[in-house]
Amino acid sequence: MTQGTAPLSRLRKLRNAGALCVALAALFWASVSVWYHAAETGMAQARARGVADLRLASDRLVGALAQYREDAVLAADHPYVRALVAGTGDLGAAELARILQRFADLAGAEHLVLLRPDGGVLAAPEDFPARLPMTEDLERASHGALGRTHGVEGDGLHRIFAFAAPVFVTQPEGGRRVAGIIRLTLDAETVEATGRGDPLPVWFTDTQGVVFTANRAGLVFRRKAGAALPDPKVYPAHTPFVTVAPRRKVIAGQEIICAPDCALPVSLDLPVIGLTGHSEVPVAPILKEARVQMFVAALAMLAIGTLIATLWARRQALAERLAMEAALNVELEEAVARRTRELRESHEALLHAQAELVQAGKLSALGQMSAGISHELNQPLMAIGTYAENAAIFLERGKPERTQDNLRRIGEMSGRMGRIIRNLRAFARPETEPASPVDMVRVVATALEISGSRLSKLELRWSPPDHPVWVMGGETRLAQVVVNLLSNAADACGQADPPVIVLQLEERAEEVCLRVLDNGAGIADTERMFDPFYSTKEVGTNEGMGLGLSISYRIVQSFGGSLTGANRPEGGAVFTLVLARAKERAKEGKMS
Ligand code: ADP
Repeated sequence: MTQGTAPLSRLRKLRNAGALCVALAALFWASVSVWYHAAETGMAQARARGVADLRLASDRLVGALAQYREDAVLAADHPYVRALVAGTGDLGAAELARILQRFADLAGAEHLVLLRPDGGVLAAPEDFPARLPMTEDLERASHGALGRTHGVEGDGLHRIFAFAAPVFVTQPEGGRRVAGIIRLTLDAETVEATGRGDPLPVWFTDTQGVVFTANRAGLVFRRKAGAALPDPKVYPAHTPFVTVAPRRKVIAGQEIICAPDCALPVSLDLPVIGLTGHSEVPVAPILKEARVQMFVAALAMLAIGTLIATLWARRQALAERLAMEAALNVELEEAVARRTRELRESHEALLHAQAELVQAGKLSALGQMSAGISHELNQPLMAIGTYAENAAIFLERGKPERTQDNLRRIGEMSGRMGRIIRNLRAFARPETEPASPVDMVRVVATALEISGSRLSKLELRWSPPDHPVWVMGGETRLAQVVVNLLSNAADACGQADPPVIVLQLEERAEEVCLRVLDNGAGIADTERMFDPFYSTKEVGTNEGMGLGLSISYRIVQSFGGSLTGANRPEGGAVFTLVLARAKERAKEGKMS
């Protein structure tokens, strides 16, 4: 059994280790999935928030610049301006320059000047250069379109937005031509001021990849390291660029920029002002939140997994115990069935042996008794002979009373002989009748009669009651038991002086008890005396085969009674036969 369970438990251990590995891998996979999902969702939400914030900041910038552009367009359409350009008005250039500057001051612009289509100054403050280089906005305006540009002026730190609106004059031959340009310049810091307090840093790059404006001063003039040099017409050589080289990473499927803190970049194209808005949402809080979610989920799954594993292990143990118990039960049932079969077989064999032994015992007893019986029969026979001779003599002598007396004695003798022979026949016959009410007094009388010769040399004390004592049994078989007890008692007290056998019959409420006492040497071995073939008597003699008590015991048992033997304190043995009292009276004369 232990040899079989060792590989079985090794197999179970291997299976458990495998299951543990799979469970841990699943736990790891599930935790990483939770982290990935949390990071992905968090970043998508952060990106949406970042785009919304960026759109807000961009709208503010675009709105502000649109206002200035409108101002330039309005100024270009002003009658004073058109008159000066057409050379028809009374207002001088200096006067118009002042008006324009006042207008610029009111609008919050830097300069509002009137130029010729080639960049020459028509009306401007006194310190203004006489001619402006033809920048992109002026080019466009000279062609009748609305121009816009941005760039760095002066010492390299002065950033301006510029709007140029064409001033049309009607030609005498019909149609219109660009006769002048209104140019409005605006300090970039004027539009930046409103966004300074925003929590989110926002910056705007132009087509050259340079940060031109931002809500953080430190972000201005940043450009990517390794990118092409910006156009010197927009950015003079002395512009203080700051080159940056951000590291890019992909986390949870999102491209992240780390410079040095990691953030999620968002951008928005603003074609109306020729810039692209940018912002970055920090990802550290998102990743921290994802990690927390991952650990919480891992702990929860670990707890649930442990619970399931514990329940599973208990269920397994229970199933194994039940299986073991079932196997044991099957084994037990088989053993019980086998044992029952063996017992039944041995019981049948025993019954068979018992039947044989009873018969053998009877025959043995017959053998023992034959001597006594022949003696018993011989005595009355001889007496009958004598009585017959005497009767003949008394008849011859004419003494009919004496003759009659002798004949009566002959009759008595022959009656006694007949009884002995009948008992003998009944004793030798195998008895199969069931227990029935039997008179115990008569049983004892029969037994005494059978054992007559054996008891002749000893003293028998027996005071039979004057009424029948009914017990449940079989007359012949009970007589056989009493014969055995008497025979043993006679054997035991053979050497005593004088040998005495006492018979006592005690009637109790439910039982009847017959005791056979002797004054012999006592029982040598009370433990074994009922064993078949146990005998202390000489082997080979007709004294005994060691079957008497064992057969008697079985007979009494078969009637539901008991037979016990013990040594008397004053010496000798006592055998006690207890039988149930019969409820009904037996029919008398069943055995005569
Ligand atoms: P057997 O008489 O053929 O020996 P039993 O079965 O009748 O066989 O008796 C078994 C033995 O029990 C006897 O040999 C004897 O040792 C013992 N025994 C029986 N009855 C008595 C008795 N009354 N006194 C002493 N021993 C007895």
